[in-house]
Amino acid sequence: MFDILIVGAGLGGLAAAIALRRKGHSVHVLEGAPEIKEVGAGIQIPPNSTRILHSWGLKEELLKLVVWPQSITIRRYETGKQIGFTPLHPELMDNYGYPYHVIHRHDYQQLLLTEAKRVGAKVTLNAYVTSVDESTASVTLASGKTLTADLIIGADGIRSRIRTAITRTTIEPRPTPNCAYRATIPLHKLVSNPIFTPLLSPPLCTLWIGPQRHIMAYPLRTSAPNPLYNLVLSHPSPASTPGSLEDLKSHYANWDPLVTALLSNIDSAHCIKWPIAELPVLDTWVSESGRIVLMGDAAHAMVPYLAQGAAMAVEDAAVLAECVARAKERSELGSVLAVFENQRKGRCEMVQKGSWENGVGWHLADGPKQLQRDADMRRDMEKMKMRKEEVEAEREKEKQEKRKENPNMWSDEEFQPWLFNHDAVKAARERLDEMGL
Ligand SMILES: Cc1cc2nc3c(=O)[nH]c(=O)nc-3n(C[C@H](O)[C@H](O)[C@H](O)COP(=O)(O)OP(=O)(O)OC[C@H]3O[C@@H](n4cnc5c(N)ncnc54)[C@H](O)[C@@H]3O)c2cc1C
Repeated sequence: MFDILIVGAGLGGLAAAIALRRKGHSVHVLEGAPEIKEVGAGIQIPPNSTRILHSWGLKEELLKLVVWPQSITIRRYETGKQIGFTPLHPELMDNYGYPYHVIHRHDYQQLLLTEAKRVGAKVTLNAYVTSVDESTASVTLASGKTLTADLIIGADGIRSRIRTAITRTTIEPRPTPNCAYRATIPLHKLVSNPIFTPLLSPPLCTLWIGPQRHIMAYPLRTSAPNPLYNLVLSHPSPASTPGSLEDLKSHYANWDPLVTALLSNIDSAHCIKWPIAELPVLDTWVSESGRIVLMGDAAHAMVPYLAQGAAMAVEDAAVLAECVARAKERSELGSVLAVFENQRKGRCEMVQKGSWENGVGWHLADGPKQLQRDADMRRDMEKMKMRKEEVEAEREKEKQEKRKENPNMWSDEEFQPWLFNHDAVKAARERLDEMGL
């Protein structure tokens, strides 16, 4: 069993603490912030992630906190007309055995924090890491204290300090032209107005897409005392300018009247601007000494257009624990971490790329490409209404030609199972077995 330091108590670091404690290691999480506090907004938990959370015994607790959206419904920006559709519930349960949820970030983080502590992880706040020594596997805190471990995990987010011990140079995140505003509206303000019923009953994820902009929205905490409606609105805006509700509204002035009505319910106290950036692909996630490793946003921060960043961090956590469990002594950590990197890097980079491409498709300017996108999304939506035999015949026909990808990637018939049905732990175990580790 190893002494492990995890730097960062975000969703990724806490998930890693749970996974590694469950394997019996001594785990100490160092968090720079004075308290564990996620932004007041929602996050989607796809089935590739619920699979892992359930395996950690968190199903019951999760069920108390989540909403089960029935679909992701994609609408055109100016008319609100539906152009795309991804059924979520019960279809994903039926197809892959695990559900798609949405949850308040604070609730998710508290759930993981409580579980990490319950299984015996130590979590220290106000423990900002200022430097890391790769050769001795030690970190120095802002207080001047130095801590040493068998293994150090950098789960310290997109601006990771731990990353420099591996890359040897500072890798800056790549800014994107877009920002994201995260806003919540008390649900009672919407339920009293029947125009919002199509968004709420049954609960849906609704995505409006338009030139250079989109809005993702869904209800949160519907069975809790303070239910909310969550919106993420993304449009071009330099990271350096402060956000404002007026600026936000100006970007969606000519959109679907339902959007205008929703925005009129946002209070500036519950609306924050967030820069959107991603990391370039790193050469490696593991230090030369085999004692320092990156995970989550520190390794592969991505734009949020597939709602998979935290899900990838949870997959990383589970795979990391499987790999580390196969090392009997410190000198073997390098080879099991190489398997971790091999299992995770390619998949995360595919998801990073997919997230970017999804955004490009959503943000197309008015014109022929956009019209083609809408037609392709509609074609795949129509397929969902066909009988099984008709779908088979259609697929056969497509095989003869070239398979047309669905511009709604969540519904693409090859990409969706690759993304949602991935059993990260099983894949890692098989690889470790094959390698005799
Ligand atoms: C608008 C938006 C919407 C998103 N929606 C989704 C979604 O629906 N589904 C999904 O799966 N993902 C989503 N994501 C992505 C997701 O939020 C991130 O991928 C995920 O939260 C990353 O978790 P992390 O633990 O790796 O990093 P972080 O959450 O960044 O956590 C890093 C932690 O490390 C701490 N830290 C940093 N430096 C130090 C240091 N030197 N010393 C000590 N502590 C330190 C920080 O305080 C922080 O607590 C979205 C992202 C955005 C921007």
